[in-house]
Amino acid sequence: MSSQVLDSARNGATNFEDAEGTVYKALLESTKAIPWKIDWNTMAFAYVGPQIEALLGWEPSSWVSVQDWADRMHPEDRDWAVAFCVAQSKAGVDHEADYRALCKNGEYVWIRDVVHVVRNDDGSVDSLVGFMFDISERKRTEQRLLDLQRELEALSYKDGLTGIANRRRFDAVFEEEWANARRSGKPMSLVMLDIDFFKQYNDHYGHLQGDYCLKLVANVLSTAVNRTHDFLARFGGEEFVLVLPETDAASALRVVERCRELLASEWIPHERSMTGKALTVSIGVGTVVPGHGDERLSFVELVDRRLYQAKQRGRNAVVASD
Ligand code: GH3
Ligand code: MG
Ligand code: MG
Repeated sequence: MSSQVLDSARNGATNFEDAEGTVYKALLESTKAIPWKIDWNTMAFAYVGPQIEALLGWEPSSWVSVQDWADRMHPEDRDWAVAFCVAQSKAGVDHEADYRALCKNGEYVWIRDVVHVVRNDDGSVDSLVGFMFDISERKRTEQRLLDLQRELEALSYKDGLTGIANRRRFDAVFEEEWANARRSGKPMSLVMLDIDFFKQYNDHYGHLQGDYCLKLVANVLSTAVNRTHDFLARFGGEEFVLVLPETDAASALRVVERCRELLASEWIPHERSMTGKALTVSIGVGTVVPGHGDERLSFVELVDRRLYQAKQRGRNAVVASD
């Protein structure tokens, strides 16, 4: 139907003059979609619906050739959209393309152009007819969804209380750094820290103060690591973990000392601690050059065992070897 209608629309509105044509014209020009027709031989617009002016601001008469169409396209979309539409049209294949069309006022509107290739009896291309749809609202919704998805992803990697990375993120980062270390052959270190007598802290100061204390410790520890790839996470409850890529045992111990010094200078009161009157942590440290077959998880277990030994030695201690 549309090709017949658009044929009669060629050379302006005059061919719409018979009764049937008037109905078709009214129909075509009352839809939100913008109808158009391009003559294949001349690559000129035979027709474009007047609605285009309301959407893009350009008068229908200013759409002369396909060059106008290409020129009024976002530069980032132009190359692929033009190449795609030309190739599909040459092959005689109906197609659709989404691109940003330039408005007269300099803004862009997302358009879906749905194109039908009209062929002559001998199979050659006669013309292209199509509809342009305004899909900017759909694109905005898509973008909002993408933003939300990114936000959710970021949240799913963040510890809700302290704002630092969570266990899930640790698992991903540790796996990646393990693979990096295996490739580079450089040592990496892992540090696990656990607050001493934290149950008593909660019992004495209350759970809310306990929460605040955890935030404070996370903050202090985050200032202790400052190389780009050093990574701090809340491992669980009152336990924290540091992944230190390209860090040998001696350098790891320097980071550990910095953590202890910063925490000591913060001097968080802990009346019920058995190690003194201020909050302390126990620490397990391990350094490894991952080789083939070296198990990531058994390395974590090793460091966790050392942390346990530090607890057994009376807490506020560091264990870095077996
Ligand atoms: P140790 O010196 O052996 O480490 O003893 P501890 O009391 O620190 O360790 P334990 O595992 O017995 O208790 C850990 C406590 O940490 C108990 C738990 O209620 C508290 N805790 C875990 N997560 C949170 C939290 O998000 N907020 C608060 N306020 N407390 C927490
Ligand atoms: Mg613990
Ligand atoms: Mg503890």
